[in-house]
Amino acid sequence: MEHDNLIACHECDTLFQKPRLLGSRTVARCPRCGATLYRSASRRLDGISAMTLAALFTFLIAQAYPIVELDANGITSQTTLFGALVALWNEDMQIVAVMVFCATILFPLTELVALLYVLIPIRSGYVPAGFNQVLRAIQFVRPWGMIEVFMLGVLITIVKMVSLARVIPEAALFAFGALTLMFAVVVMFDPRTLWDIADELSARRARPLPRTSADSAAAAVAANLTASPSGQPSAPHQG
Ligand SMILES: [Zn+2]
Repeated sequence: MEHDNLIACHECDTLFQKPRLLGSRTVARCPRCGATLYRSASRRLDGISAMTLAALFTFLIAQAYPIVELDANGITSQTTLFGALVALWNEDMQIVAVMVFCATILFPLTELVALLYVLIPIRSGYVPAGFNQVLRAIQFVRPWGMIEVFMLGVLITIVKMVSLARVIPEAALFAFGALTLMFAVVVMFDPRTLWDIADELSARRARPLPRTSADSAAAAVAANLTASPSGQPSAPHQG
């Protein structure tokens, strides 16, 4: 069996010929258990690229400016996120500093840059070098980016500090607020769908003649619905 055009259901592990999504179809479902195999992403590429780019700029603003300024009896103090990390490090809390650095700077930045690295070339119609490794890297770092947890911590701290000092919100606080919402949109995008688009681009390059709508529709129906109800091959059996 050719491996290029296969997809395994992540719920029941049945292996299918990958159905193409055409026309108004936006979701491919497993005929055996009904789980969603994947969604059509090509139409959402523009939106998610713009949102990722905007999130990257917001991220830079959030890192460059102070988060809050504290004013206690005329003594003011303010810090950026990185300044807070340096303070943690100097207070002998190196492990906490490294964890916060990874969760709020390194992993979110890696995700945004990696997403742009794959999204922009895919939009232009070619597959970038190291495509598979970059997508795996995105899936690895995604659960560890915790901007929203950090934002929650900052808000709780501000509420507690209000009784001790005058708290003046600075630019980075608003930037982190916006970034939390932007990340919520970015993580809704499943990077696995890029694999399907990349497969399609490779297939188109290998076979440059455009398919007619009639034969592609027939192929889609055949590929989508020919899985037999019993004796379906599973992913481990096919290696
Ligand atoms: Zn299934």
